[in-house]
Amino acid sequence: MDLKIKGKVFLISGGAKGIGAAISNVLSEEGAIPVMIDPSIAEGKEMLQKWKSEGTQGAQFEKRLSNTEDAKDAVMFALEKFGQIDGIVNNAGANDSIGLENGDPHKFRASVEKNLGHYYDLVHFALPQLKKSKGSIVNISSKTALTGQGNTSGYTAAKGAQLSLTREWAVELLPYGIRVNAVIPAEVMTPLYSNWIKTFEDPEKKLAEIENRIPLEKRMTTAREIADTVVFLLSARSSHTTGQLLFVDGGYTHLDRAIGT
Ligand code: NAP
Repeated sequence: MDLKIKGKVFLISGGAKGIGAAISNVLSEEGAIPVMIDPSIAEGKEMLQKWKSEGTQGAQFEKRLSNTEDAKDAVMFALEKFGQIDGIVNNAGANDSIGLENGDPHKFRASVEKNLGHYYDLVHFALPQLKKSKGSIVNISSKTALTGQGNTSGYTAAKGAQLSLTREWAVELLPYGIRVNAVIPAEVMTPLYSNWIKTFEDPEKKLAEIENRIPLEKRMTTAREIADTVVFLLSARSSHTTGQLLFVDGGYTHLDRAIGT
């Protein structure tokens, strides 16, 4: 299937590592132009070199989205380089360790802002371009928005809000033909996940327990599997799909718990 995204420009927050890197790489494979917004400079440089050797284009905005101005600058960066924006993947985010009982209200608020603010900012500043291109937006959320995880209040609050905003923006942007969808991963081995699993006393045992509970093939979802769904949603091949929350998780969130026993 030709996704018809050759030469189209997509912004991916956190696009140089983990799930974001997989999305950037699949976009590049399909001949699109990924603009990674990510402070991971070494990883981004390596990807850009690879793409160059394969004859495709891309760029990295080498900064963490820490405030609204950063998002505005990232959009300007992409526009100055490539003159158009055809889609946004809001992906950057990180677990916190802010529980209710042991947490700190100030840290909670800061975590919500850190995980949610730039999702709004990027779309807000790119909107004039997305209106021209009838662009597509994909928000990466997390199963924890629906299942909880414990000890990560700010992160889950932001992840839940990302799902609400997916529906909210899908409605608001209907008149422009801009589609908005969310992809919900559960267990994907990335630098973020690897750091999290290491917080357990016996990480290998914990990982084996988790894998054993994933209904489809008792394995983690690969970053590539998340990326393939995201890129499909970015492309016009999903032209009548909007406001949808897609779980790419091997059935982990919804299928019968008895399957894992
Ligand atoms: P990751 O391995 O930490 O990669 C994320 C990348 O984004 C890193 O390069 C990180 O840089 C960068 N980043 C973080 N905050 C940023 C910001 N504000 N602005 C720009 N770049 C930023 O994370 P991941 O596991 O791929 O997760 C990606 C998304 O998937 C997140 O939204 C996460 O909630 C979601 N998710 C992941 C899983 C999973 O199993 N991995 C499950 C459910 C949901 P630094 O490393 O320098 O911070």
